[in-house]
Amino acid sequence: MSNETLFEKIIKRDVPADILYEDVEAIAFKDINPQAPFHVLVCPKVPIKMLSNSTAEDENLLGRLMRIGASLAKDAGFGENFRVVINNGSDAGQTVFHLHLHFLAGRKLVWPPG
Ligand code: AMP
Repeated sequence: MSNETLFEKIIKRDVPADILYEDVEAIAFKDINPQAPFHVLVCPKVPIKMLSNSTAEDENLLGRLMRIGASLAKDAGFGENFRVVINNGSDAGQTVFHLHLHFLAGRKLVWPPG
């Protein structure tokens, strides 16, 4: 059985996705089950399992992921109003164990989150 994460399969085009951005180290695509009118996932291509598994070597990459999502939100007209979420671990709601940032926008978001 393959140990590939779902998002590695998306990167390899083995699973289809609505890809909005890609470069050598990152990919961004629409969430299949959007929680807001704009719901984009930004992932590193290297399969870091979760934020708490990242290292100091990943700092630049983590910053790039945030800037990619912010740029996509801006391109979609949500440059000033969006939320960034990382679910780290199953108790926090993580279901795909390949680090990803959720960018949500296009509706009023409440706080605290559920
Ligand atoms: P998390 O629960 O933080 O691990 O987020 C995983 C996200 O991946 C969820 O919001 C899912 O809706 C999303 N997702 C699952 N399968 C796909 C897919 N094939 N294409 C795009 N997004 C997906």
